Amino acid sequence: MELFDGLEHVVRENESLAPYTWFRLGGAAQYFAEPTTVDELSLLVQRSYEHDVPVRLIGGGSNVLVPDAGVEGLVLHLSAPAFAEIGVTDNQVTAGGGAKLSHVISTSVREGLGGLEQMVGVPGTVGGALHGNAGTQGGDIGQWTRRARVMTRAGEIRTHETDSLNFAYRRSSLDELVILDATFELEQGDSKQLTKRMQTLWIIKKSKQPKTTENTCAVFRDPGGVDAASLIEQAGLKGTEVGQASVSERNANFIVAQPGATSQSVVELIAKIKAQVFDRTGVELEPTLNIW
Ligand SMILES: Cc1cc2nc3c(=O)[nH]c(=O)nc-3n(C[C@H](O)[C@H](O)[C@H](O)COP(=O)(O)OP(=O)(O)OC[C@H]3O[C@@H](n4cnc5c(N)ncnc54)[C@H](O)[C@@H]3O)c2cc1C
Repeated sequence: MELFDGLEHVVRENESLAPYTWFRLGGAAQYFAEPTTVDELSLLVQRSYEHDVPVRLIGGGSNVLVPDAGVEGLVLHLSAPAFAEIGVTDNQVTAGGGAKLSHVISTSVREGLGGLEQMVGVPGTVGGALHGNAGTQGGDIGQWTRRARVMTRAGEIRTHETDSLNFAYRRSSLDELVILDATFELEQGDSKQLTKRMQTLWIIKKSKQPKTTENTCAVFRDPGGVDAASLIEQAGLKGTEVGQASVSERNANFIVAQPGATSQSVVELIAKIKAQVFDRTGVELEPTLNIW
């Protein structure tokens, strides 16, 4: 592995990506790396850049569909503790890009800091959430973000402050290769009340999405404030199947991969939903799911 000389301890070849995704689908990555420090990450990124090797990031895999044939190049996974640190100073919480969003939410709530609890139940990492400005009806992660440190495709580290950060509905200006960490400015509150609020929101969220035992992902943006799930339901598509992939009975904006499903069947089901929703409602749905 000349390309990654000296980094063999963190790089694996031909690693199946399915276990890293919520769909549990897709082929292998040509190279897969779990760096343990920012320096190792930077070396991996720089070598790939110099050799024109494509690089992708995978966080919690809750918003990614990997093709059945897998992907060429390097997939980075920030699973090491160095990328998952969470620190609290006054009303600011700083968290690594690889930290689980759920851990950041529970730390904030424990410290009596309000805001992020609105996002309870959104799976994945801080990096994934910032990349797509994840959120719920109560708000999105962007509204609390004051600073983000990123690594470019050339391996340089940059910091974005509030004035160079832009967030819109499920969109973010943070499109550099790696989101290393971010600082959230939260509201002082009462830890007990925030915990109660978080628990209530979690119960509501759980009742509106597929069961945690299912291999599933959310698929479309809500177009112009309309609920994508309602449009799909109106088009009579609940339960529709292509191969072993089906539209969730519980929330029509989710696709469930039954045993034996392929990524191709998910891609075809997405195309079918888009076409039928457009035919019946005139609305063009756009995926939030990152299809690699
Ligand atoms: C059951 C369920 C419920 C969901 N509910 C919601 C919801 O209420 N609201 C909502 O907005 N979404 C929801 N989602 C979608 C998903 O959870 C979010 O989009 C989540 O923020 C994705 O985070 P992740 O770490 O899993 O990202 P991944 O799926 O791993 O990656 C998504 C994208 O982010 C990029 N990325 C990941 N980490 C980094 C990083 N450190 N630096 C740079 N780029 C990175 C990836 O390259 C990819 O392009 C739901 C999904 C599921 C399965």
